[in-house]
Order: sequence, then C-alpha cells, then structure tokens
Amino acid sequence: MIWESLDAELKAIEAEGLTRRRRIVDSPCGPDMVADGKPVLAFCSNDYLGLANHPEIAEAMAEGARQWGAGSGASHLVSGHLRPHHQLEEALAAFVMRQRALYFSTGYMANLAMIPALVGRGDAVFADKLNHASLIDAVQLSRADSHRYRHLDLAHLESQLAASQAPRKMIVTDAIFSMDGDIAPLEELYELAEKYDTWLVIDDAHGFGVVGQGRGSAAAVKLIPSPRVLYMGTLGKAAGVSGAFVAGSAKVLEWLLQKARTYIFTTAASPAVACALQKSLELIAAGSERRAHLVTLIARLRLGLEPLCAERGWQLLDSPTPIQPLVIGDNEPTLALSRALLERGIWVPAIRPPTVAKGQARLRITLSAAHTVGQVDALVAALAECGPLKN
Ligand code: PMP
Repeated sequence: MIWESLDAELKAIEAEGLTRRRRIVDSPCGPDMVADGKPVLAFCSNDYLGLANHPEIAEAMAEGARQWGAGSGASHLVSGHLRPHHQLEEALAAFVMRQRALYFSTGYMANLAMIPALVGRGDAVFADKLNHASLIDAVQLSRADSHRYRHLDLAHLESQLAASQAPRKMIVTDAIFSMDGDIAPLEELYELAEKYDTWLVIDDAHGFGVVGQGRGSAAAVKLIPSPRVLYMGTLGKAAGVSGAFVAGSAKVLEWLLQKARTYIFTTAASPAVACALQKSLELIAAGSERRAHLVTLIARLRLGLEPLCAERGWQLLDSPTPIQPLVIGDNEPTLALSRALLERGIWVPAIRPPTVAKGQARLRITLSAAHTVGQVDALVAALAECGPLKN
C-alpha cells in the first residue's frame, strides 16, 4: 500500500533521534507556562516584548470581534479587506517609514508572495545559506535559479552576482538569523544590490519590534528606502499576535497587490486580529523600556554562560539578539541537556538537524522582556547543575 513505506521512514527518523514532538500547553504564552501538565519556566517563545498575553491587546481583539465579527469572510480583493485591515496596513507602512504595506496572514505566506511575484524562470536569486525555510521554499516556488552564498559571506555573494547573466536578480536575506541570532550586513547588501541592480528582500521576522526602536533592522541601520528594498516583518513574534507585512515603495506594493498569490487567493485574516495588531503597534512604539530590559537580560545571560561554556566545551554563538544559541554538538547530549533542564522545571528546546547543520545541535534559548533577571539567573544555575562535564 502507498502508505507502508512511511512506517520504515518514521522508524529511521526515530532511530536518529530526530522525531519532532509537540508539548500541549495549558496556559497563555509567557515565561511561566504549563506544558504537558507541568509548570515550567519557558525560554522558547519568540514573544520578545512579552506582548502575546498583554491584556490591552487581548481586549482590542475582543472588542474588534464584537464590532467587526470573527471572520473576514473573503479574500482581500473580494470583500474581505475590512477597515481594520486597511488601517493596520497604513499604520505599519508609516511605522517602518515606507510608502505602503500589505498585511499577510503569516510570514511564511508573505515570503511565498514576494519572491515569485518579482522573479521567475531564467532569473536568479542569491540567498544566504542560513535563510529561513520559508524563503528557501519561496525561491523554489518562483522557479528562478537559486544561488546560495556562504553565511554572511559578501565576497562569495559578489562573485556569484558578477558571474550571473540573469535578466532579473534578487538578493534575499534574513535580517536576524532565526537559529544563530546573528545579523545580516544590510548596508553592504544594499550596496551590492545597487551595484548589480538587484531586488533586496529582507526578512525581519526577528527584528521587527525589537531593534531600531521597534521599527526593525532596516530602520536600525537607516537603510535607504529605495524601491528595490522589500521589507518583511512578522507580527506573531515581537508583536505578539499573528500575521506579517511587506512594506516598500507604492509602485512595488501595487505590483504585489496585483500579483501576490498568497494575498489574492486566501481568506483575509480575522478583522479582530487586525484590531489587536493596531494596539500591539502602539505598544511597540512605546516599548523602549521593554527593549532596554531585553538588552539587560541578553547581557546577563551571556555573562552567566561564559564560564560554563569554557568549562564544558559548549559554544555560545556570538549573538546580540534575544536568540541565544548554545551549541552542544551531537543530537543525543543536546536532547539530554534539554530533558535535564525540563526535569528542573525549565523549558529550552533542543534544535537538531535538519533545522541546523549536523554536529551543530543546540539549545535555542530565547529571551523575552517578560522574563525577570532572576529567571535568567535561574536558567544559568540550572545549566550549571545539569550539564555534563567535557571529559
Ligand atoms: N521568517 C523567519 C526568519 C522566521 O523565523 C519565521 C518564523 N519562524 C518566518 C519567516 C515565518 O513567519 P510566520 O511564523 O509568521 O509564518
């Protein structure tokens, strides 16, 4: 039967220690959660500003549902583009200082929209090797030739650009890399985009709300708002709700409105979500204290982990962002460490291949402004207690 080979494959995945499992959570998102019936201190969400469970956002969503209903009922280009969606798009464009924005129901959808709308068969996309899966899938969907340059390696990228004869070219990058927490050199990438006349697509899933006073990674480096730059920010991470947006010049965004299949052929998100996001945007704009606290927590964690890394042979990747990857190496010890933490009531996910390279399995610690200094110290203390020594 057609499904029989699945059994053997699932067993092989299990044997490699690569089976993915979910925990059932019985609490809202936050540092203190209940997972599989057990209270835990969590360091795994992307709720960087601690807004996912903010009462004013929840209230805006409830009020939005009362006023506008639960569902949009149709796609944006039919009858599903309600006033709250429109207001949100205008507020997002103004906030990131671009002419226009379109709101998508997820970041994955936004990426699948942008790339195939702008390049196709015979064109060339130049993508950082560590780009997010949704960008990789979007390039495949576009049918453009895919050139992957070594992580952050501008010389490698330039050699590929110089060798390309493609009529249309595009550089695609995460602004903050989701598994390493490091930052793309956006200004240098922009210079190359100018020199070789390419699009520059920036996926700022992890920077929007967090850096550049909340306006994101492009604003943080004062990137020129050229029509060639498309900026994608997600709204399910720091913004604490769900969805994403693409912002850019009015002309390019009009093109997306005409061509972006994941905008056109999908039901618009609930208007209540758009109402919640307008409140979230206000809190992001007024969120300097949250961002400052997050910076304090990042420094505190790194300081605490430094001696442990030296002692245990772990590697804390060089990340100034709330994503703090602690590379252990092989899958089994990484899983064992994650389990040992869980026994102590602390939840940090183990990330393994194929999400990261072989031999690079890690604990992906993520910090939120909702954490306290004491909670970060508790994580460091628990790691000190449970990590196996190197020899
Ligand atoms: N891009 C990056 C870099 C991401 O980390 C993610 C989410 N993990 C996405 C895009 C997809 O965003 P969403 O979760 O809104 O689909």
